[in-house]
Amino acid sequence: MKLELRGITKTFGAFVANDAIDLVVEPGEIHSLLGENGAGKSTLMNVLYGLYRPDGGEIVLDDVPVSFSDPGDAMAAGIGMVHQHFMLVPVFTVAENVVLGHEPTKGGLLDLAAARKLVREISARFGFELDPDALVENLPVGAQQRVEIIKALSRRAEVLVLDEPTAVLTPHETDELMTIMRQLRDEGTSIVFITHKLREVKAVSDRITVIRRGRVVGEADPSADQAELASLMVGRQVSLAQDK
Ligand code: ADP
Ligand code: MG
Ligand code: MG
Repeated sequence: MKLELRGITKTFGAFVANDAIDLVVEPGEIHSLLGENGAGKSTLMNVLYGLYRPDGGEIVLDDVPVSFSDPGDAMAAGIGMVHQHFMLVPVFTVAENVVLGHEPTKGGLLDLAAARKLVREISARFGFELDPDALVENLPVGAQQRVEIIKALSRRAEVLVLDEPTAVLTPHETDELMTIMRQLRDEGTSIVFITHKLREVKAVSDRITVIRRGRVVGEADPSADQAELASLMVGRQVSLAQDK
């Protein structure tokens, strides 16, 4: 599914957190949204997910303007969201969390047996192991994140937003996540990858949009060196040792 954000503006009082942001994410593309802390990335995604009403602009899915009044609407339209802080119930099992994830979705209830089956199917598809009956609190962080991804896929997300998904991961788990992202991309999912980490953005992006202080300041090429990306991100010339 093609996602277009057209001129999205979101203010908090006098503060403009998103200032007429345009973003186009094609099906089968990993599109990174690169920006410093406070640039307005999560705000934009909260607008997309129906958590915030925009003050201006529109969301367009496959050329059809849509309007979401809550995350249930966004999920039903095919938007999936994986937050940095997982929305899981730790004392419940993996499958139970998948069932719970369906409650806000209009008409999308799932029973436990179906959830177990889905967990097995999606795990096999991506080549990892995840016991549907394991308690979430006993899982490593990387596996907990996969539960979030499974929740989104079980609701048939066609646009998957990952908001700083690597912040809590080990380097190995980060590599594994990137493998999952690439497979999803190759299967046709539109992926929005939010980060301020230059190495990751270079490793996984098909396209990069840079935002600074609530505004799109440009597109960057994934083959650009890290100093170039950093300079665009912070708005002044920077040099980095790792490009040497
Ligand atoms: P990022 O995700 O890029 O780090 P955010 O979108 O979270 O940035 O925040 C962008 C700016 O908007 C920050 O200055 C933040 O303090 C402000 N902001 C975010 N949410 C709110 C809110 N609910 N009320 C007031 N200000 C907010
Ligand atoms: Mg932040
Ligand atoms: Mg954020």
